[in-house]
Amino acid sequence: MSSSQQEEVSTKDLHQGYVEIWHHGLFHIKSSALLCAVGLGIPSAIYRLGGAATTSDIATETGVHHSKLSYLRRLMRMLRFCGIFTADEPSEGEDETIYRLTPVSQVLVDDQGKVPSTPYDITAVSTFFSLERWFRDAGDKTLFEVAHGVHPWTLTKNDASYNKAVNDSMVMDSSLFMDIMLKEVGGTDIFRGLTSLVDFGGGLGVAAMAIAMAFPHIKCTVLDLEQVISQAPSSDGTVEFIVGDMFEYIPPADAVFLKLIFDCWDDDDSVKILRQCKREIPATDAGGKVIIVNCVLGYGPQDDVYMETQVLFDVYMMRYGGAQREEHEWKRIFSEAGFSDYNITPIFGFQSIIEVFP
Ligand code: SAH
Repeated sequence: MSSSQQEEVSTKDLHQGYVEIWHHGLFHIKSSALLCAVGLGIPSAIYRLGGAATTSDIATETGVHHSKLSYLRRLMRMLRFCGIFTADEPSEGEDETIYRLTPVSQVLVDDQGKVPSTPYDITAVSTFFSLERWFRDAGDKTLFEVAHGVHPWTLTKNDASYNKAVNDSMVMDSSLFMDIMLKEVGGTDIFRGLTSLVDFGGGLGVAAMAIAMAFPHIKCTVLDLEQVISQAPSSDGTVEFIVGDMFEYIPPADAVFLKLIFDCWDDDDSVKILRQCKREIPATDAGGKVIIVNCVLGYGPQDDVYMETQVLFDVYMMRYGGAQREEHEWKRIFSEAGFSDYNITPIFGFQSIIEVFP
C-alpha cells in the first residue's frame, strides 16, 4: 500500500498513540518498582505498623536512607496508582499520606519469617533482553539458553542463588495457591478415593504437604532434581522426598500431580512426561489419574486483567520453550500420550485444574 493510500491518521489518534507507546514502554517500571517494594519489605512494614503507615514510618521501618525519603514518596504514589497500596489523604493539619495494604500487597506480607519473592527476579527479566536476538536465531536453543548460555535446570544446579530464587518463588506461589485451591476443591472429587500421589517436579514440597495435611490418608511423595530436593525441609514423615528425573522415573501411585510443569516444556516433552505418568498409574476405574495445575487459555473470567495475565504468562514461558495452552492444544497432547478423557476445573482466576484419565 502506498502512503497516499494509507488512511490519514488524525492528530487525536497520533496523540493517543504517542501516549500509549510511552505507557507500554514504561510497563517494566511496574515490575521493577514492585520487586523493590518487596525487597525493601514495604508490605510487611505496613503490616507490622498496624496496617497503616506514612512514608516516613515506612522509611524508618524498612531502613530506607533519609536522603531518599522524597523518592520513596514518589514510589509509593506510583504503587498506589497501580493498586498495590491504597491511601488516605492527609487530614487537616497533617501533611503525610497514610498508606494501607490492598489485597495485592497483603499477598506480599511476610508474616512467617520468609521473604516472598516475585516472578520477576533479575534473571527472569534479563532473559527477555535477548528476545529479538532469539527470534532471529536459526538454532533450536531456548530463549533462556540464548540469553544465559545454559538450560534453566542446569543453572539451578550451578548457581545456588538462582536455585534459591526459583525455589522461593515456587514456595510463595504454592503456599498461596494450595490454600485457595484446597478450599475451592474441598467438596469436589479431585482427591477423593486416592491412596497415593506423586508430586512431579514438586519443588520444596509445599503443595504435597498441603495435600497430605488436607487428606491424611493419601501417601504423598515429591520427586524433583537433586539441587531442589537437597534444599527441602527435613521430612517429618508427612511426605517423602525423592531425587529423580521425571523423564526417566516415576514412583508408582494412584495419581501424579503436576503443578506449573507443562508450561515449562514443549508439546513433545509434555507428551513424554505424560506417557511416563500413564505407565505408573492404575486404570481410570481403579482410580488412576493425572492432576495438572496450569493455565487453560480462555478459561476463567474474561476480563482484561485475567486475560492479559494469561497471554503475558504464555510469552513468559517462551523462555523455556514452554507454552500456556488452549483447550484444544491440551486435548491433542492428552490423546497423543494415550489418555482417554479429561476434566477442566477453572480455579484461582487464571489457572485451572485438569484431571486427565488413562
Ligand atoms: N510444582 C512446583 C514447582 C514448579 S517449577 C510448584 O508449582 O511449586 C518446575 C519444577 O520442575 C522445578 O522444581 C524443577 O526443579 C523441576 N524439574 C525440572 N526438570 C525436572 C526433571 N527432569 N525431573 C524432575 N523435576 C524437574
